Amino acid sequence: MKKLPFFIPMQSCPNRCIYCNQWAITGQSNGLTAEKVLAKIEKTDQPVEICFFGGSFTCLPQKIRTSLLEAAARAPKGSRIRMSTHPLCITEEIIDELKQYNVGAVELGVSSLDDEVLAFCKRGYTSEIALEKLKALLSAGFVVGAQLMTGLPYQQTESTINDLKKLSKIKGPSSMQIRLYPCLVFPGTELFSLWEKGSYTPLTEELCIKQTAQVLFHAENMGFEILRIGLHETDSLRGTVKAGPAHPALGELVRSEALIEKLIKTNPKGPWIVSTRHRSLLSGHSRRGITVLANKTGLTESELFKRIIWW
Ligand code: SF4
Repeated sequence: MKKLPFFIPMQSCPNRCIYCNQWAITGQSNGLTAEKVLAKIEKTDQPVEICFFGGSFTCLPQKIRTSLLEAAARAPKGSRIRMSTHPLCITEEIIDELKQYNVGAVELGVSSLDDEVLAFCKRGYTSEIALEKLKALLSAGFVVGAQLMTGLPYQQTESTINDLKKLSKIKGPSSMQIRLYPCLVFPGTELFSLWEKGSYTPLTEELCIKQTAQVLFHAENMGFEILRIGLHETDSLRGTVKAGPAHPALGELVRSEALIEKLIKTNPKGPWIVSTRHRSLLSGHSRRGITVLANKTGLTESELFKRIIWW
């Protein structure tokens, strides 16, 4: 289903997280209005998924929330509503309201479930609270998503894998969607000052690819659905990011690394059966995947090609 995304950058956030500057990421600073939503909806005659991203939708004042939801409800029959929001703005009343407007999917910006990381990043809640809110959304029957980050201050790969274990425990056999975002340094943030002083070092591109690939590997094994890896590339993001792994094809590189991990774990020296759908994960980006696989296995590239069976 076609997506109709609307961004609400940092409107009504309960607090300012140390790494966040969504105005820089999206290049948008004006508030979203019902008129803007309607103007886009009126141009479509097919069902769409209306997505309210950024900021904290359910923290918006009731009047604004209702006007946006009412505008979204005028989309063609069969359309759906998805939103991202802040764990602190999920209450029983909010859940009832979202159900009343047929909201289908709710993603929580969780960032991390490591209390030390959460406190340092000034997220304003503990892991226990975030998990409680996710549980409430799952029991209410929404499609639930968790947005996690990598490379935050005091965050290690193990800590993110532990986050997945905690999420896996609460989701049980139900499905849960995940987005993985690397921490980037934007101007006008507390993290920027820390980085300038040398008190914070972002992940390098290579390290980010390796760490996120491990997280992805575990997430897929635990049955999570991965919706996205890395932020959407925009002119604004490209022009403002000061440091960190902002590669435009980060998701593809991470998936390539995770595939290599899987191949080596299944059969350290091959042969490997690889779906042709995944060909670009090995041969794209100047054959980075093949080079990494050759380095890790000690095989030459021509030997590798003999041991890959495409199907
Ligand atoms: S990360 Fe989310 S909650 Fe924190 S300031 Fe940014 S938009 Fe607001």
